[in-house]
Amino acid sequence: MASSQQPTQRPRRHRVVVIGSGFGGLFGTKALKRADVDITLVARTGHHLFQPLLYQVATGILSQGEIAPSTREILSRQDNATVLLGEVTAIDLEAQTVTSTVLGQDTVTAYDSLIVAAGATQSYFGNDHFAEDAPGMKSIDDALELRGRIFGAFELAELGASRGENVDHLLTFVVVGAGPTGVEMAGQIAELANRTLKRDFRYINTRNARVVLLDAAPQVLPPFGQKLGEHTKKDLEKLGVEVVLGAMVTDLDERGIDVAYKDGRTERIVAVTKIWAAGVQASPLGRTLAEQTGAPLDRAGRIGVNPDLTLPGHPEVFVVGDMIALDNLPGVAQVAIQGAKYAAKAIERRIEGKPPQRPFKYFDKGSMATISRFKAVALIGKVRLTGFVAWLAWLGLHLVYITGFKNQLTALMHWFVSFLGRGRAERTTTEQQIFARAALQRLKGGAADLVSAPGAYDRAQEILEVSRRAELEERALEEVRLTDSGERGSHLDRADQR
Ligand SMILES: Cc1cc2nc3c(=O)[nH]c(=O)nc-3n(C[C@H](O)[C@H](O)[C@H](O)COP(=O)(O)OP(=O)(O)OC[C@H]3O[C@@H](n4cnc5c(N)ncnc54)[C@H](O)[C@@H]3O)c2cc1C
Repeated sequence: MASSQQPTQRPRRHRVVVIGSGFGGLFGTKALKRADVDITLVARTGHHLFQPLLYQVATGILSQGEIAPSTREILSRQDNATVLLGEVTAIDLEAQTVTSTVLGQDTVTAYDSLIVAAGATQSYFGNDHFAEDAPGMKSIDDALELRGRIFGAFELAELGASRGENVDHLLTFVVVGAGPTGVEMAGQIAELANRTLKRDFRYINTRNARVVLLDAAPQVLPPFGQKLGEHTKKDLEKLGVEVVLGAMVTDLDERGIDVAYKDGRTERIVAVTKIWAAGVQASPLGRTLAEQTGAPLDRAGRIGVNPDLTLPGHPEVFVVGDMIALDNLPGVAQVAIQGAKYAAKAIERRIEGKPPQRPFKYFDKGSMATISRFKAVALIGKVRLTGFVAWLAWLGLHLVYITGFKNQLTALMHWFVSFLGRGRAERTTTEQQIFARAALQRLKGGAADLVSAPGAYDRAQEILEVSRRAELEERALEEVRLTDSGERGSHLDRADQR
């Protein structure tokens, strides 16, 4: 007998959308592993990037895979998480949807709770045209382009020197910004020139390379305090890096960089390779959220959030990491990780009907920057470490935070090669790494210009199929006619007889 009972429908689970696969996005998603929710992580890259080691990819120590494992693979065992590739172009707070796009195809994803962790990009302080000649250090594309430019400059210098030309412009490297990234880049280029490459060239002496570290600020590493800043400056100078402080970049082009000093002096440094490690700008998604809520934006585009990391008037939306302006929190990985874990816990508690947590409180675990092999500085609470001890602390911490055992192992091997020996395992560069990006930027619609519009490919296939079918039928009919009429071969015979 047929049952009159309707099958009971399972209630829909709470939907969480996470924007970004960086520190905030990934750690927030992982923190929801056991929650009764369905998570969609939307990010414009398929990898989780460990930004603190980008400079090692740029200078040939590590491969990009070691610091950017696949997000999909990391989350493959987390059944409640789905990974979606796409650049988020719109967030509709009213409709509770996120629109993402990839190669011209839009996807709209609905949410009940949203965690926005879209991070920050390079800021050229209103001079965006600097980007073409002075790439920043925010992505794998940046690091590979810089690797190509740095190793390429030595190659071009060798070529020029073999023809007796002046190659000073090729052997001068300018790093703009004396924060941790700038210090690390300058130190590594100096090590490349002084140790790694010194025996590899015949016409140039790589040890004559000039490495300049520029900053408008009066000291190196301001967040580390005066003492560690001075210590770092001295260590860099021992390595041969020229540290130029109080110098503001006023312009730059393919061949050089113009700077103005506080006392009114100006100077042009002739250098083909420039690296931009100054200033950050929060993701433009912050502006989208501010426009819909009236939340304030600071000069770096970071959005003001409530003490529980939610958007004013939208308790279902959390913003974490580099995008937020709250209590002068620094733009570091731990702020993003701890904020994302806090947001995940808040969502879980709400679903379980538990009372809210206390306001978000950041626990500062300290800051570190490497200067060269065996030399670093670290500030942990009030404790200041320098030299080899700080470098060992840096090594241990970064090893722990690299995602995946395989990556930890290979990174350790590469560090062994680079720090105990003088080699760099990842010196491969390609023309595309250096020039393809500029070419893509010259296309109006970027990479989307290189593929068919959504649906156009299928329509073209249909037309092609119809015309191919007609051609095949026509050919078959002609074959039949030739056979039945006995014409096949007869013309050939006549031709042979002539
Ligand atoms: C070179 C460098 C060195 C650093 N060194 C250190 C260090 O030594 N120690 C330290 O603590 N911190 C360091 N930081 C800072 C640290 O990496 C950041 O604070 C941290 O990554 C912030 O995490 P986040 O989740 O907010 O953003 P991110 O980690 O930047 O993640 C943002 C994510 O959002 C995605 N995304 C952005 N926009 C969109 C969009 N519209 N649609 C879809 N996805 C989008 C990005 O692809 C990315 O996956 C460094 C940063 C850099 C760049």
